[in-house]
Amino acid sequence: MIAVIALAMLLFVADHAGAASGRQPPPPGAFKGAPSQLTRFTTAELTRGFLALAFGSDLRIGAAPVGIRRFDRPIQLQIIPGGSVDRTAAMRRIVEDYASRVPGLQLSLAAEGAPADIEVRLIDEKNFRAALQAAFGVNVAKAFIARTDPQCMTSVKSSVEGVILSSVTFIIVDKGDAVFLDCAYHELLHAFGLSNHDQKNPWTTLNQNRMVGYLTVYDSALLTVLYDPRIPPGMTRARARAALPAVIEDLKLAVPARGR
Ligand SMILES: [Zn+2]
Repeated sequence: MIAVIALAMLLFVADHAGAASGRQPPPPGAFKGAPSQLTRFTTAELTRGFLALAFGSDLRIGAAPVGIRRFDRPIQLQIIPGGSVDRTAAMRRIVEDYASRVPGLQLSLAAEGAPADIEVRLIDEKNFRAALQAAFGVNVAKAFIARTDPQCMTSVKSSVEGVILSSVTFIIVDKGDAVFLDCAYHELLHAFGLSNHDQKNPWTTLNQNRMVGYLTVYDSALLTVLYDPRIPPGMTRARARAALPAVIEDLKLAVPARGR
């Protein structure tokens, strides 16, 4: 789930077959029972997923967003430990996974207590409602919970030009490995700017009918596109749609249309 906040603007998103091919088992570190993944996609499959996930969100407060939302600077992420199960080291590994797989994020862990672009708060489920209220106020928390019945959540504050100013993510640590891993990988995608869900997309972690719990080839490709200089903050959907095929092909993220 997610909330996106612009200057006078808040967006929220809640959670819980084509020609793609190249099936692979889940990677080491995935939870028991995690789904396998497809690893080869066409330009059309990546374009469709990107347009569905980079625009829109569950709940918005403030002005309508103009287009793409993402950071326009190296991203510093701060993990704020908490909860009854210590997941700090696991969370750190997830951040390192994103940083190495998607270099365009320029993602690194902030020193303890240093200002950060993304704050990841590890909490127990019983404190989730109170944490949301403390962060966003009683009314926003109530509206979000009523609308989405969330388990984890992210709020994204962006400028009206589409530059993300800061993100805050709440991850539940005391409901087992699967919930933690699924939340952590899913919510970070929101925090970086993929703020929507797509319940019809069988490849993304941002399909709320799936639990994935690792960074799939598909989602890492979408993030790589989002952080390409040719897809700047504020880019409209129409311009993104026109630009995406050349960007995806140039980055060699798709398999060629023939010979698959
Ligand atoms: Zn979500």
